[in-house]
Amino acid sequence: MKRSHLIKPILDQVYPVIDYGKGVYLFDKEGKKYLDGASGAVTANIGHGVPEIIEAMNEQAKKISFVYRSQFTSEAAEQLAKKIAALLPGQLNWCFFVNSGSEATETAMKMAIQYWQEKGIHTKTKVLSRWVSYHGITMGALSMSGHTSRRARFVPLLEDFPVIHPPYCYRCPYNLEAPSCSFLCAKELETVIQRIGPEHIAAFIAEPIIGAAGGAISPPEGYFQIIRQICDKYEILFIADEVMTGSGRTGRMLACEHWGVLPDIVTLGKGLGAGYAPIAVAVASDKVMEPILNGSKSIMSGHTLSANPQSCAISLAVLEYLEKHKIMRQVEEKGNYLKQQLEEMKDSYSFIGDVRGKGLLLGIEFVEDQHTKKPFPRKAFVTQRMVELAKEIGLIVYPSGSGIDGVNGDSIIISPPLTINEQELMELIQLIRDTFSAFSKSMN
Ligand code: PLP
Repeated sequence: MKRSHLIKPILDQVYPVIDYGKGVYLFDKEGKKYLDGASGAVTANIGHGVPEIIEAMNEQAKKISFVYRSQFTSEAAEQLAKKIAALLPGQLNWCFFVNSGSEATETAMKMAIQYWQEKGIHTKTKVLSRWVSYHGITMGALSMSGHTSRRARFVPLLEDFPVIHPPYCYRCPYNLEAPSCSFLCAKELETVIQRIGPEHIAAFIAEPIIGAAGGAISPPEGYFQIIRQICDKYEILFIADEVMTGSGRTGRMLACEHWGVLPDIVTLGKGLGAGYAPIAVAVASDKVMEPILNGSKSIMSGHTLSANPQSCAISLAVLEYLEKHKIMRQVEEKGNYLKQQLEEMKDSYSFIGDVRGKGLLLGIEFVEDQHTKKPFPRKAFVTQRMVELAKEIGLIVYPSGSGIDGVNGDSIIISPPLTINEQELMELIQLIRDTFSAFSKSMN
């Protein structure tokens, strides 16, 4: 093997070299075609190689690619902030641009702490979260993440922010069923707040649908309304981490909109630049900004490439593309059809335990026994095998964790570009079937 100087996720693994992408497809240097059933990592929301975006990229490059945010602003950044404020519900009007989802959640955490400081309350510094969650890989974001394997090497350096169970109905921590469960998993938040003391808690952060850690675990109707009420009762900010679920992925700009719940701060990433640019954002509401505007007038965060004009122009073009082609409108219909097809596969493939998710963010949890829900043993590497089999066949799926600890379980996410057409959707369904059939064969 030719020596590579690039640190890849698994150092002794050979990765195909992608030559180009077109729509929902990727083509490697050997000429192999892949259907991108995961939008990479739930990112390429409008597909690959879209001419309008490439044009916007070029136009911006001709003007200016970089200005430093402490010295200048740019039309691209101003317009993107205006567009995001207009597209988001409620008073989510203030955009802080960064370059990755991790930076966005980290910024949201800092904004929340600063909000209380500017109000003269210096004790509210903790940010509570849930076990089985992922908010990013930087230390602050990882402190908030309930993701055992990603935390493991750094545990002594991390805060213990994950405190409550997720709304994981398939494996309810209370062995109950919604709605007769009275949403005990949401009410746990109140118990924990009382134990710690609300005077120490700045915010609660949650993914509306748990992605990387849980395989698209979506809450039952009513869950987030209770979370919002508890946050309000104890004067705790609610941060929605919509890095994966936002930007149209579930058919709305925010997944929170499905439940009529408004966060105080929201983070967007992944689909915001749709893979064309590294860009993410923490958006604060008027309420959060008010004491800062009346106080220090500056949020203590930022990166050299924050609000980079090139990234902002690309993201603006992505959002305009979504609007112009009315892409979000069709997401729920496509997602419902795909979900129903996956549900039907349960009869043919006994290792499909649960099918879940919303819009075009769907998860499949694999089990050794459909009736007892017994997970496969860790050493069977089911998720990894599924991803590899799919790739061999020419399909990209996204590996995710599952199980009540996010470790002892297997799941994948199916999240094709939102632009996928009917014929491509059929092809995707067939490729998933082919992958599952290959997995069945490999078990015999
Ligand atoms: N938040 C959520 C919900 C995510 O799914 C991710 C990434 O998977 C992140 C934050 C971190 O984003 P990034 O990998 O861009 O740093």
